[in-house]
Amino acid sequence: MSARPSRRLLLLASKLGYQTRRFAETARGLGVEVIFGTDRCHRLDDPWCDAALPVPFERPAEAVARLLEAFNVQRPDGLLALGDRPVLTAALLAERLGLPGNPPAAAEICRSKLRQREALRAAGLRVPEFASFPLEQDATVISRLVRYPCVVKPLVLAASQGVMRANDPEEFVTAARRLQRLLESPEIAVLREPESRYLLVEDYIPGREVAVEGLLSAGRLRVLAIFDKPDPMEGPYFEETIYVTPTRLPEHAQQALLDCCERTVRALGLFHGPLHAEFRINDSGVWPIEAAPRPIGGLCARTLRFGPERIYLEELLVRHALGLPGSELPRESDAAGVMMIPVPRSGLLENVDGEQAARAVAGVEDLQITARLHDYIAAWPEGSSYLGFIFARGARPELVEAALREAHARLQFRIVPRLPVEHPASGRLPARAE
Ligand code: ADP
Repeated sequence: MSARPSRRLLLLASKLGYQTRRFAETARGLGVEVIFGTDRCHRLDDPWCDAALPVPFERPAEAVARLLEAFNVQRPDGLLALGDRPVLTAALLAERLGLPGNPPAAAEICRSKLRQREALRAAGLRVPEFASFPLEQDATVISRLVRYPCVVKPLVLAASQGVMRANDPEEFVTAARRLQRLLESPEIAVLREPESRYLLVEDYIPGREVAVEGLLSAGRLRVLAIFDKPDPMEGPYFEETIYVTPTRLPEHAQQALLDCCERTVRALGLFHGPLHAEFRINDSGVWPIEAAPRPIGGLCARTLRFGPERIYLEELLVRHALGLPGSELPRESDAAGVMMIPVPRSGLLENVDGEQAARAVAGVEDLQITARLHDYIAAWPEGSSYLGFIFARGARPELVEAALREAHARLQFRIVPRLPVEHPASGRLPARAE
């Protein structure tokens, strides 16, 4: 399929890493010109600074003004927000440029876990009891006000960073203080998110968890895939591991899930573009955990392929963003899955063994170690980056799951402790010295 070469795509992303690169390469492969808007240009390790427009996503109106000024006459024909941080900027900009997108009010709701809970509750969806507290409030006092088991989480971060389960007041105090330290750490403070001054506490919802990857076109939701998460996600931390599609949920549960997903989208007011949403399912029904107007994170989009040419999700989304043909293509019928390789402990990643053996597992399509050797990697709940990704395909989801587990079992990561080092500007130690 060929595209008109004159098209321009704006990618808005906080991280100019492997995910952004995949989208950019995909777009360029279609003959599309790519422009970046990012807030990460202050980072010395960012090799893309020259090519990206620096924008403060935490001040979306200013971000939009700067982008409009930078575009001058050459405006983009479409835009995609990768990750949670740019979604409001993307919505405001789409409105200003007359491009299809989400209403800014919907994007704003999705940027805050508290506002999202309020909107879902108001629409009559199943939501846990929840309450937010200022970060300064004494954790011991809060521990007497909440029910157990509960989940403590930040209002703004993503990828389960800072999300912890507490079964009693003592665990709560430990978790809340840990979250306070994380939110006050230089790494998070630099994001200048106003809502990082609060924490959210909600009832723990037991049950199976699934993720839905969707695509909205002028209000119409197309579910691209339902992913099972076959590992129990019972805490105390909630990093992702295996995603496998198609789901093995019984038909009636799938229907209930799709209904709930549709209602979630309506309740949030989402209208156009990618959707990634998580749900828990138990005897009471389907519970939305969170919905975000952005694609699945990391390299996971590679799991989904569409049409006879087996284009990846990235291409489907680029086509959709630019209004090019191809975004309606059906997904292939094979089962597919990805393992986001968990971080067993924080430290310096010194060595990875067994990559060849892992790749040799039948059904394994690829393995990408994305963590850099000799760099520090944080385990959850402080962490938010995986060691890498394993991809598998097969005739049935259980075969895919088994292949991912086998490949993972063949990998060994040597992670050694790092001595705490003070932050050069603030003189503070990292959120957690391992
Ligand atoms: P993030 O946006 O950082 O991923 P979420 O609110 O989606 O944060 O929570 C991350 C994960 O934590 C969820 O996928 C789920 O496994 C778990 N989780 C969050 N809230 C609850 C809850 N109330 N009950 C049970 N598990 C939860």
